[in-house]
Amino acid sequence: MEEGKEHEHVFRSMFPPVAVSDDVTVPEFVLEGADAYADKVALVEAAPSGRSYTYGEVVRDTARFAKALRSVGIRKGHVVMVALPNLAVYPVVSLGVMSAGAVFSGVNPRALAAEIKKQVEDSEAKLVVTNEVAYDKVIDVGVPVIGIGDQERMPGAISWDELLAAADRTGAAVVPVDAAQQSDLCALPYSSGTTGVSKGVMLSHRNLVSNLCSSMFAVGPEMAGQVVTLGLLPFFHIYGITGICCATLRHKGTVVVMDRFDLRTFLQALIDHRVMFAPLVPPVMLAMVKSPVADEFDLSGLTLKSVMTAAAPLAPDLLAAFQRKFPGVQVEEAYGLTEHSCITLTHVGADPEKSHVAKKNSVGFILPNLEVKFVDPDTGRSLPANTPGELCVRSQSVMQGYYKKKEETERAVDGKGWLHTGDIGYIDGDGNVFIVDRIKELIKYKGFQVAPAELEAILLSHPSVEDAAVFGVPDEEAGEVPVACVVRRRGVEEGEEEMMAYVAARVSSYKRIRMLHLVDAIPKSVSGKILRRQLRDEFIKKMMKPA
Ligand code: AMP
Repeated sequence: MEEGKEHEHVFRSMFPPVAVSDDVTVPEFVLEGADAYADKVALVEAAPSGRSYTYGEVVRDTARFAKALRSVGIRKGHVVMVALPNLAVYPVVSLGVMSAGAVFSGVNPRALAAEIKKQVEDSEAKLVVTNEVAYDKVIDVGVPVIGIGDQERMPGAISWDELLAAADRTGAAVVPVDAAQQSDLCALPYSSGTTGVSKGVMLSHRNLVSNLCSSMFAVGPEMAGQVVTLGLLPFFHIYGITGICCATLRHKGTVVVMDRFDLRTFLQALIDHRVMFAPLVPPVMLAMVKSPVADEFDLSGLTLKSVMTAAAPLAPDLLAAFQRKFPGVQVEEAYGLTEHSCITLTHVGADPEKSHVAKKNSVGFILPNLEVKFVDPDTGRSLPANTPGELCVRSQSVMQGYYKKKEETERAVDGKGWLHTGDIGYIDGDGNVFIVDRIKELIKYKGFQVAPAELEAILLSHPSVEDAAVFGVPDEEAGEVPVACVVRRRGVEEGEEEMMAYVAARVSSYKRIRMLHLVDAIPKSVSGKILRRQLRDEFIKKMMKPA
């Protein structure tokens, strides 16, 4: 597993390499062989709507939308922003955008108008696709808007139904002349990476196809048409659109689409749709374990075989409690990041009979085709097994860079192609990788990204604030919550509550500052960088002290 290349400690997968088709785009890869499943349900919304798409309809409407996009001026390389909740139509929209050679950029439809506008401007999106949930927030962003749903409630939006019907009437070829190549960009999700505010992560068809091939290495042809996956995690996140939708559609399974988490609807959907595989985040597992609502259900009716948990650390106590309550369900951890096109490490597909023993607290094994190393963050030197360092990964799934951010890109991906993740971990002698810390600024609230730099900028825009620093502290329910330390300007009396409310009015609810402390000074390094780690450790120490 370990190689002494250039005196580096480089670790590879213990699974054999997998072939990656080198001439297909994401929609071609995902929908390959769909004709044989034309009548099978590909996507179905959990109650109450029950709306569904068969494979025949997915193929048809993906092509219709790709063709229609050209009639509204979208060309190869243009960014199309998708401001939709999880709906059955969502993957059709994204695959249609990619088929047209354009770039899909998902945004949280429940973000504030100003946050969505920022992404439209930064990504230079040429078009937004939305529905009633985000219509009000996008109709005035200055680019055409396609509305899916009740047209009466979305004046000024181009009707999705009419657009597709008009595309049927035009005789133009379905495949545009400048059809996408595998090296073209196809997705621009947003991530703050190791530092700063949210940035567009440029992912190519090659990036996503190779990640799908690596992460589905253990899914054999016998699984075709078999899997029923829960589509609860947001589709605007790379984990939702590729790890859930694209992966399931590739194997002609069914995605049961859920927009928001409500334990009762969730458990009912698992039972009604005979869900077998549920990718979740730890806070959902916590609700499944803790809420008395689960006791109202006859859980013996569950067909759920496995849960994959990623996006944030899974507490060992939670894992144990989950296994006690759902003994028939296997829990498999995975680790990934947007900059690596989704999954990077996983226990899914490991075969204990081949001595692939998933150890407690490990987030997974290295996926096929990937190289991994752990470097000393101070010296940059790679470290041997069992020695914690910054996890770096090199593969064909490493992003092309941050959109219009050369410097940040160079900081994240070095000259030799290694992506520096900002996570601290190590690998043991059996190939299990453990994540033990995070050195990047990122805060993860229930799996959602919160960038301290964004909250600090808002705090600093407050007339009473002289200096501010934001960091994450552990929280049982959310994983982590954002906390701020603020230095007030001399002579002002503004209290903590008012400052927290000031931030809350300017960000989505999951980014809200949960605790704010007034301090005399913010500790900084000689180069002026906030010493967040020191602040956080001091804060935690103070909180733990008995009163
Ligand atoms: P995102 O780009 O939003 O998927 O966030 C990626 C980050 O989430 C990683 O760099 C980690 O800090 C964190 N993360 C993802 N999966 C895990 C996991 N299984 N355990 C701990 N942290 C994780």
